[in-house]
Amino acid sequence: MKTLFSGIQPSGELHLGNYLGAIRNWVDLQETYFCYLCIVDYHAITQSYEPKLMKQRVLEMATDVLACGVDPDKAVLFVQSHVPEHTELCWVFNAVAGFGDLSRMTQFKDKSARQPENVNVGVFDYPVLQAADILLYKAVAVPVGADQSQHLELTRRIARAFNHRFGKLFPEPDTVLSQTPKLLGLDGKAKMSKSLDNTLALAATDKQIRRSLARAATDPARVTREDKGDPDNCNLYTLHRFFSDEERQAWVRQGCTTADIGCVDCKNALADNVIDHLGDYRRRREDLLAHPEKVHDALQRGAEKARATARKTMEQVHKKLGLWA
Ligand code: SF4
Repeated sequence: MKTLFSGIQPSGELHLGNYLGAIRNWVDLQETYFCYLCIVDYHAITQSYEPKLMKQRVLEMATDVLACGVDPDKAVLFVQSHVPEHTELCWVFNAVAGFGDLSRMTQFKDKSARQPENVNVGVFDYPVLQAADILLYKAVAVPVGADQSQHLELTRRIARAFNHRFGKLFPEPDTVLSQTPKLLGLDGKAKMSKSLDNTLALAATDKQIRRSLARAATDPARVTREDKGDPDNCNLYTLHRFFSDEERQAWVRQGCTTADIGCVDCKNALADNVIDHLGDYRRRREDLLAHPEKVHDALQRGAEKARATARKTMEQVHKKLGLWA
C-alpha cells in the first residue's frame, strides 16, 4: 500500500464541510492507502485561541473522526504534538526552504489580512511544517483541496531541495484528487466555516438539522413557489448529490425545473436523507462519548505507531545532515 498523509485542524466538533471535504474521503482512503491521519494542533496555535479549550477541541475532533468510520486498526490516527519529530523536521526544512517561495504563499497573505493583530512567524512558516508533516512519513499521496495545492507544490520543492543538497531521502508526493464537488456554506455565499455560522454540526439534533436546512440558500432566481428553478444553480442541490440516491435526485431535478415541487418539499426530503445518513455516525459517537477511553486509546496507539516511523526518518535525516548523533 502507498503511504498517504492528511491533517485536520482541531476545530472541535465536525461540521458538514469538514465531513464532506475531508473525513468522508478518509474513510474510503484507509481501504486503499496506508494512512497517517493527523489532528494538527501545532498548526492551530498559529491562530488566536483559548489554551484552556485546546485539549477539548482535539478530543472532540478525534471522537468525531472515529465516529465517522475512521478505523484505528487500519489508519494511524494521532495528534501532531504527540510526535515532536514534526517540529524537528520543520526546523531542518527551514534550512532548505526558500524565503521567496514562502513569501508568495497566498494563504499567508490571506491569513495575515484576516488576523493583522497576530501575524506571527508560525503563520509564515506554516507550509514548512506541513511539508514536515507529510515527508516525516515519506507519504507519496496527499488529498488536498484547491486552496492547498500551492502548499503541496512547496512540499515537493522542499523535498527536491533537501535531496539535492544532502542526498536522496524524500519522495515528491502527489495529490489525491477528491470526488467532492465544490460546496459552499448554507448561506450559498462563502466556504463552509464555523466562524461564518453557515454550516451544520454533524452532531446536530434532527430538529437543528431541519431548522438549518430550512434556512439554507437555494437557487436565487427561484423567488416564488411558482417559479421554475435550476438545481445546477442551487447550492442546496449539491447536498442532495451527497445524501440522496439517484432516484431522489431525479425527483428533485424534475420537480424543481417544472415547479412541481417547492423548495420546502426539497429541503424536507434532504433533511430526511441527511438524518438517515448520519445514523451510524451518531450511534458510534454516542458509544465513544460514553467510553472516552476508546478515543484516548486510539490516539495513544496512533502516536506510538507514528513516532516509530518518525524516529526512523529523523535518524536518516541526522545522518544525511552529518549531525553528531
Ligand atoms: Fe434548490 Fe430544491 Fe429549491 Fe430547486 S427545489 S431551487 S433544487 S431547493
